Amino acid sequence: MRKPTKVASVLFVAAVSVVGFAAGPAAAPASASASQYALATQTLPDGNKVVARWNPCQTITFQVNARFAAGTPSQRRAAIKDVRAAFDRAAVVSGLTFRYAGTTTQMPTNTSTSWYNRQNSAEIVVAWANQSKTGYKTNLLGRSGRNYVAGTGGYAFKYWKSGSDPWMGASGRGFVVLNAAQNRSFKAGFGTGSTRGELLMHEIGHSVGLMHVSSTSQLMYPTILSRHTATYSTGDRLGLERLGTSNSCISTPSFVWHDLS
Ligand SMILES: [Zn+2]
Repeated sequence: MRKPTKVASVLFVAAVSVVGFAAGPAAAPASASASQYALATQTLPDGNKVVARWNPCQTITFQVNARFAAGTPSQRRAAIKDVRAAFDRAAVVSGLTFRYAGTTTQMPTNTSTSWYNRQNSAEIVVAWANQSKTGYKTNLLGRSGRNYVAGTGGYAFKYWKSGSDPWMGASGRGFVVLNAAQNRSFKAGFGTGSTRGELLMHEIGHSVGLMHVSSTSQLMYPTILSRHTATYSTGDRLGLERLGTSNSCISTPSFVWHDLS
């Protein structure tokens, strides 16, 4: 990793966070038409539009808040196992390195400070939110009409400039929040039906920079559909490859994103 230059103190750091949404399993499927994958982009201050991606050469740690994932300890352990398996699947396709960093009681949410400024124990936090319980709800969970969606995934992206070098940018924190009120709509594992595994793979996709597509055959279709099995499909895989180790490393200075690995 490149060290910050002497002009570090005048470097400019700005941040935006972008979130994606997964609606519940009830919506009707749309017809397939648009491209098979879509990557999140950000426009740097010099007008250069870049793919919003993580440094593919870093280790991305994740923690899980599974308190409201299920009713019993063994079911909660199964939920954590699904989270880990979902990251494993994203890792195999993208080449990105994810490392489980244990459980957490954190709930990604924006307060007087943005969630990513307080998320300092893991790069990505996966949490089941209870929207009717103070301390366990989050304003990051999207809505579809009056109801909260089943899950939301997102990332925070920062950009910086060092001396006469061009503007650079990288994602450095992410979150996945799942709506505990809809736990019963998703079967455990990655098998047939609308599964927790499929939902997790979709939201993890958002956290690493995938956007929605209109093709129902892709996991990044905005609705979690009943499927034979939860698998990243052709377009999902192409997108994850572009976000992963097939692309160049990004030397992010530690004052932009402190490496938590
Ligand atoms: Zn989504």
